[in-house]
Amino acid sequence: MQRTIRIQLQPDLETASVLSQTTEQYTLSFNAVCKYGWENDLANGVELHKATYYEHRAMTGLPSQLVCAARVKATEALKSAKALKKKGKKVGCPTSRRCPIRYDMRSYTVWFDRSELTILSLNGRVKLPFEIAEYYRQYLSWKNTSADLLQDRKGRWWLHVVMEIETPLASVSDEFVGVDLGIATPAVDSRGNKYGSDHWKGVEDRTFELRRRLQSKGTKSAKRHLRKVSGRQKRFRKDCDHVLSKRLARSVSSGATLVFEDLTNIRGRAKMRKAQRRRLHGWSFFQFQAFVTYKAEARGVNVGFVDPRYTSQKCSQCGHIERKNRPSQAEFRCKKCGFECHADDNAAINIREDFLKLRAAVNPPIALRSLDG
Ligand SMILES: [Zn+2]
Repeated sequence: MQRTIRIQLQPDLETASVLSQTTEQYTLSFNAVCKYGWENDLANGVELHKATYYEHRAMTGLPSQLVCAARVKATEALKSAKALKKKGKKVGCPTSRRCPIRYDMRSYTVWFDRSELTILSLNGRVKLPFEIAEYYRQYLSWKNTSADLLQDRKGRWWLHVVMEIETPLASVSDEFVGVDLGIATPAVDSRGNKYGSDHWKGVEDRTFELRRRLQSKGTKSAKRHLRKVSGRQKRFRKDCDHVLSKRLARSVSSGATLVFEDLTNIRGRAKMRKAQRRRLHGWSFFQFQAFVTYKAEARGVNVGFVDPRYTSQKCSQCGHIERKNRPSQAEFRCKKCGFECHADDNAAINIREDFLKLRAAVNPPIALRSLDG
């Protein structure tokens, strides 16, 4: 499994100028290899290397590894242009105005623990401090592989590093577990297990009240206080999402599938508001979904999603859908068959069942499939 993390470099003026010149020379070399390959109908790496390497080293002053990296990139571009041409598409010689430099393990080294890296440039290895967004910290224990150096429109320098982790071969066992995210209980699964702590709601409610009070005050010091409270709330929610996703991913064995309602894909503001009421005070689903997906994948656990409509109003025993099946937040009592249980448990079972139905529709049982071929 791979993820790309974005590292913002903090070069001083002199180093920034070196990076800029290195990129220029790299681009020059890339474009020249493309031109040569295009004119001579060549897309073979060895041939292109023989034809351009010495000339390009002298012309650009780039270290050997970067000349080779530019040629490898140009070869890829020529190959894909050729493939498009074969399909009858109109293509010209590949060119780049500012080609991101591709680094590998021999041309850059990164130390995440001290936020420092070195990359190869026209001046040999240059050392750079960097900053990394909090979100990417979860991937830092993975192995770093290749990296691209680029500059954005605002002139900031970035290194996009591809991080890799060995994952157990993804297989699908017949363990399917539906999970309902709720308010009083953060998560309930279709086996009746509960996750997360009841006191989260209390903390969240108190913060919500405090924020409301500060917002209505509107003074300078209230605003300052509000910023502090917002930061604290963000960290608290993040910790909770971490705990919740970790416990869920660990509750099943590798090959199992955890199923959730897809509450991040809802269109329309009214529906969105309604969906968000399913978690406290608009607590986002995006973060939780990202955490759970990543933690599950790392353990060889699959994650599935279902349409959230009706999961809370549908009877998990007879399928009857009615709003009145749900007399209160916590209760479920079917108007048709009389089935009674906790509303969260009923929803979790529905989530599992909906997913199995969905799966059967796109993925007929193996016995059926082997009949036709
Ligand atoms: Zn029923």
